Amino acid sequence: MKGGFTGFIGSEIYRGSSYGAWHPLRVPRVSTVMDLTRTLGWLGSESYITSPRAKPAALSHWHDPSYLAALVKAEAEQQVSTETRDRFGLGTHSNPVYAEIFRRPATGAGGSILAGELLAQGGVIHHPAGGTHHGMPARANGFCYLNDPVLGILSLRRNGIRRIVYIDIDAHHPDGVEMGLAGDPETLMISVHEERRWPFTGDLGEDAGGSAVNLPVPRGLNDTEMALIRETLILPLVDRFAPEAIVLQCGADAVEEDPLSQLSLSNNAHWEIVAALRPLAPRYLVLGGGGYNPWSVGRLWTGVWAVLNGIEIPDRLPPEGEAVLRAIAWDGHRLGRNPPTHWFTTLRDAPRDGAIRSELRDRLSFLRQREGLG
Ligand SMILES: [Zn+2]
Repeated sequence: MKGGFTGFIGSEIYRGSSYGAWHPLRVPRVSTVMDLTRTLGWLGSESYITSPRAKPAALSHWHDPSYLAALVKAEAEQQVSTETRDRFGLGTHSNPVYAEIFRRPATGAGGSILAGELLAQGGVIHHPAGGTHHGMPARANGFCYLNDPVLGILSLRRNGIRRIVYIDIDAHHPDGVEMGLAGDPETLMISVHEERRWPFTGDLGEDAGGSAVNLPVPRGLNDTEMALIRETLILPLVDRFAPEAIVLQCGADAVEEDPLSQLSLSNNAHWEIVAALRPLAPRYLVLGGGGYNPWSVGRLWTGVWAVLNGIEIPDRLPPEGEAVLRAIAWDGHRLGRNPPTHWFTTLRDAPRDGAIRSELRDRLSFLRQREGLG
């Protein structure tokens, strides 16, 4: 693989897979991105990589073998004992037993592990099924059964890459990744997440032994505020760290229409970060993450692939692209009843600019001062 390679890691396992009729992850996400990018002629077979399913031995680079055995058993038996539920967090409302409870996360993790191998020689990989940033070594957490970002970073390490920056712009704090990287002087984690929201970690002062920069942001975060965060915090920190690889968790739940959080970005904010980080390292892995409005997720991540490939995003989708978005159903949610037309006909949201609030400026100054950025 040459340094200019741009690949997409996907799998058919995500199509039709659901955490259950009432779970936020009952909606299609990765399959929409695969269908839409192909329909638009943006994803040829030369760029598409089928995600392998990681075996327990590969997953045990970070996860506890007893937990992995419980996960495999839960899939086989389609139920768990009370003891397994209490010990490993499996079979709860958040982390239910479902048909592909081992195979689906093991495929996501296999994709991130493979990305670490493929990127050894340089390049860009988009792996939208990755980004399960809450997974713990021996416990399911926050819809995440495994932690593919940590496994991907460890894979980069095994392939000779030392200095790695992990950036997370999901609405939720990446508690699992922070724990996995804590105290490691060769990694830098930067997270922007909604304040006072689950998992309630990632306070402004929390630096994980010097390896993490956490910026909790107020409800209603707008594009103007995110641009300031990008220009005065994220890009200067990444530039100074001079990473050999960048891993971006590009969760899609910080947009206005997401049902699980209360930030107000447009997808332009995400795409601008995706584009701005690209020249800062020779290796770039862009993962997915949260995102519970199926139209927002499909449009945002399809746009990520366009940005990574320098493809111009059309103002209006051609009819066949629109048909992919019109075929999505979001049962059991009021936003699914009468979606606005632009969720079908466009990829790009209208910008959501706004005032920059003083508490955000204060937090940015605090972090810039602490990190020696002046
Ligand atoms: Zn999230």
